[in-house]
Amino acid sequence: MAQTLARPVANLIEILSRLPGVGPKTASRLTFYLLREPNGLAIALAEALAALSAGTVLCERCFNVAEASPCPICADPARDQQQICVVEEPMDVLAVERTDAFHGAYHVLHGALSPIDGIYPEKLKIAELVERVRTSQPAEVILATNPSLEGENTASYIYQQLQATGVPVTRLARGLPVGGDLEYTDEVTLSRALEGRRSM
Ligand SMILES: [Zn+2]
Repeated sequence: MAQTLARPVANLIEILSRLPGVGPKTASRLTFYLLREPNGLAIALAEALAALSAGTVLCERCFNVAEASPCPICADPARDQQQICVVEEPMDVLAVERTDAFHGAYHVLHGALSPIDGIYPEKLKIAELVERVRTSQPAEVILATNPSLEGENTASYIYQQLQATGVPVTRLARGLPVGGDLEYTDEVTLSRALEGRRSM
């Protein structure tokens, strides 16, 4: 097939269409929008993307995405480091923070177990969590993984791994929409799920 698109255009369309939720049609629309947009959006976007990896690190303690390690939450003496809320993704930290119902620390797993997709425990920050709990002996570990099949399996697996530490482990109360993401749960529902958490 003849090359009908200028190569940089085809290239950006191909890259954008690899993003979750963006098909080839949306990718084309975005690319041509950026091409025509007169206010320097394309340059601003390029700079923001370059800064995204250059300007961020993973916190060495909680593995949240931050500008420095330890992150502001881990470094905050007003936060209760004796409570560790375990979440799947950095976006979930924001969701829990929005509830204003939790003032402890976090541990970001960077995913949920899904053997069918090749996501085994080694791919997540689970060994790091077990080591952190073993050495710091917090008062409580709250498993706030999503109320999905993968999230529940991840919570069960972590619970088993933490048993030997003797640290109390709790799980968010049921009542969150099943299959939903913490990230999209409203603050009231999420703070109720946190308050109603139960021992595993
Ligand atoms: Zn941190």
